[in-house]
Amino acid sequence: MQRQRKLGRDRHRSKFLGRWTATLLVVAAFGWSWSTSSVVAQVPVRPQPASAANTSGGAAPVLRADPSELGLKLPDGEPKPGGDRRVLVKSDENEVVVARVAVEIGDRLAVIMPDGRISAVLTHEATATDRPFVGIASKTLQAKLATKFPGFTTKATPHFIYVYNSSEKFFKGTSGILESMYPGLVAYLKTRKIEVKDPEYPLVVIMFRTRKEWEDYMHGMFAGSGVAAFYDGVSNRVLMYEQSELADVAPELALKSCISTVAHEGVHQILHNIGVQQRLSRWPMWISEGLPEYFSPTSIGAGLRWKGAGKINDLRMYSMADNIKTRTRPAGSGTGSLTEWVIAADEIDADGYAWSWALTHFLGEKKREPFQKYLTDVTKFEALRPRSPQERRELFIKHFGSDFAKLDAELVAHLYKLPYVDPVENMTHYVILVDNGGRRMAQMTTSPGDIQSLQQAMSAQSAVIGRGLQFDVRTFPSRTTARAFAQTWVNQ
Ligand SMILES: [Zn+2]
Repeated sequence: MQRQRKLGRDRHRSKFLGRWTATLLVVAAFGWSWSTSSVVAQVPVRPQPASAANTSGGAAPVLRADPSELGLKLPDGEPKPGGDRRVLVKSDENEVVVARVAVEIGDRLAVIMPDGRISAVLTHEATATDRPFVGIASKTLQAKLATKFPGFTTKATPHFIYVYNSSEKFFKGTSGILESMYPGLVAYLKTRKIEVKDPEYPLVVIMFRTRKEWEDYMHGMFAGSGVAAFYDGVSNRVLMYEQSELADVAPELALKSCISTVAHEGVHQILHNIGVQQRLSRWPMWISEGLPEYFSPTSIGAGLRWKGAGKINDLRMYSMADNIKTRTRPAGSGTGSLTEWVIAADEIDADGYAWSWALTHFLGEKKREPFQKYLTDVTKFEALRPRSPQERRELFIKHFGSDFAKLDAELVAHLYKLPYVDPVENMTHYVILVDNGGRRMAQMTTSPGDIQSLQQAMSAQSAVIGRGLQFDVRTFPSRTTARAFAQTWVNQ
């Protein structure tokens, strides 16, 4: 029996949205409570969702992935590692090429093509060969991608090929992160005695201008989901989009969260191509997601950049802030050992990502030797070979011991000591000042869109009540400075 397997796809969710929305509502309510005027209380301050405006055109052709890129058709069965087996198979262009066998399962082979994509072929249609596997040249792949993605810009660097119709600014931001992260990560792994090799083919990153185009490309697979970008282990590509649900409400946070996602997916892609994680292998979830978070932190302050492997992940710390402040544990983590809860997870939510990062950071920083040995063991995980919960637990215990109470205590002690930069606190905040014949109110927002819509609403109100409302906007580097100014100004 055959079934469509969705393999190796890392679905990275936009994790900050829920928490952020709640924060904004609190801020807005706070703002209105200062108002001494009832006139403006009904002003709609939230802008309309900008996505609704994205209806122009319609004539542009919808770009869709080849169905073969949506998953591998593989039978059930015992997977046999490919080792160094190579076979002659037909490429998309009907040329005979040398592919490397990633895994054999049932009557099929999952083979790595010269461009790094994985393809399923019938074993009897593949001819064994001694010819070497040679990855595609960057220039050749770039030309192919340019044909496949009409209207997109393609740019090649020593390790990556970027294919995008997003803004140049977005391309610069994402490529800046990936280009600095790649050598940094490789150097870091070498100092940690993890073996690495050069990728055999370019790493492809595709950036769509809008979420709609990205969803369409994936045949609607992620429509309506919280997935914001992913590394696809089958096509070996990172696919993302520029337009963000957060962009209108908090453009700076949107960009930061987007950049952090880029770095996270970039780490998945790099690890799968430098010999650290075998293609189609499934690592225990906590290390599979914790390691990219550990390696990918990006800066929260001015300048969007990769901070360096092992540096504090401010966005993760922020999402754990309530737990850290109140010395509590995440809802849903039960009452047993925290460490055991983290390492047992098969599926994770935002809390799971954060605590996987926390555990990885703790072990990576405080238990360096066993951590390096644990990593060396997971680098040997082969394609498609499942590991039972018991096996995963035993592997953890082999390296870190079974005194979970002690590990828990050390983990939280480590976490509580970490300093971090609050990403919401340190955003540009605008204070909108309204003077209605001596009666003052102030509204605090992170959204430039709010300013415009409030100003328009004010003009309309002025016309109705027949007197001028004075309107001013001040800019502050943080929430605290904005709030202090607003409170003082209103009470003057
Ligand atoms: Zn991930």
